[in-house]
Amino acid sequence: MATTEVEKSRYKKWYEANKDRVREMKKQSMLKRRQENPELHRRQSIESKARLKSALFDMYGHVCARCGFDDKRALTLDHKLNNGNKERRDLGERGVYTKAKNTYLPNEYQTLCMNCQFIKRCEDKNEN
Ligand SMILES: [Zn+2]
Repeated sequence: MATTEVEKSRYKKWYEANKDRVREMKKQSMLKRRQENPELHRRQSIESKARLKSALFDMYGHVCARCGFDDKRALTLDHKLNNGNKERRDLGERGVYTKAKNTYLPNEYQTLCMNCQFIKRCEDKNEN
């Protein structure tokens, strides 16, 4: 095994043993940075979310899967299986995006515009 592989393996074992402590330290560090410079944190958070959404459009399409609308300001990631509420509760909005980005799941997600999103919601509830 190469040295870097040994180091990775050692770190992974150490991380597993200290996971809770590491997470708490990261959380405290992030809270401190946010308090010290809230405007920077807010801007970085917006930029990070925009990069994530852009990566998702690269994967799931830059146009609405139903009507072809292409203005990104009104495009969203749709849960084809209609499990969006549950997934957002379990993973958080950012967690859903991260899941969809880490693994391409075209049977679970698609790009829809907000109009088609609402129309689909009505259709699923058998409303007019
Ligand atoms: Zn549409």
